[in-house]
Amino acid sequence: MSLYPERVARCQHIKINGTQCGSPALRREIYCFFHMRWALKSMEIDESRQRERWNATLALPEDADSIQMGLGEVIRLMLTRRVDHRTAALTLYALQTASANVKHTSFEPEPTTVVIDRECVGQRPIGATAWSPFEEREYEELGADGRARDPWILKQEREAREEHEQLDRWLTRLEATPANERLLPNESQRDRGIRVRKQRAQAAEAAQLKLDSECPL
Ligand SMILES: [Zn+2]
Repeated sequence: MSLYPERVARCQHIKINGTQCGSPALRREIYCFFHMRWALKSMEIDESRQRERWNATLALPEDADSIQMGLGEVIRLMLTRRVDHRTAALTLYALQTASANVKHTSFEPEPTTVVIDRECVGQRPIGATAWSPFEEREYEELGADGRARDPWILKQEREAREEHEQLDRWLTRLEATPANERLLPNESQRDRGIRVRKQRAQAAEAAQLKLDSECPL
């Protein structure tokens, strides 16, 4: 049986021992708040690692299993001389600290205390759980007195929000489109597609001609 309603997705992070994280995922994301942050940080590390051509992976030290695996990885790197003594010593020290601290961590708290909707954080009353105590009803759907708000107003708010998001997406697309490829007044999307293809073909042809004329052979 699941611990929380099925409408809330489960975090897809898999721990070192193969079990799945039991926290609820953030809305529209695949990870919970904690693992989402870790995923973003890991991406940053991956980028700098590519620059340094340094190749090692340490699991997120979230439990005793992953710290043990981290120790194994450092030992492997030392024996294969792929890490200098100073870095190895500091990493071992960090793992030692992690191991002393692990029993005090709570990376997988009670699911209903985990934030799944960052936009609604401002509406949470003090002492409330992260989720609304009412089945199928979010905090944004409740008034200050805790009673359900007028569904018509909620619908208006939702529609305004969706319209805003759509406009945002449209603006982003527009900014990414070169000026001569944007939709003209009274032009249909289909006609625009035909015009853009033609324009691009002409531009490619002109570039080729220029290249040919400049070629000394
Ligand atoms: Zn998680």
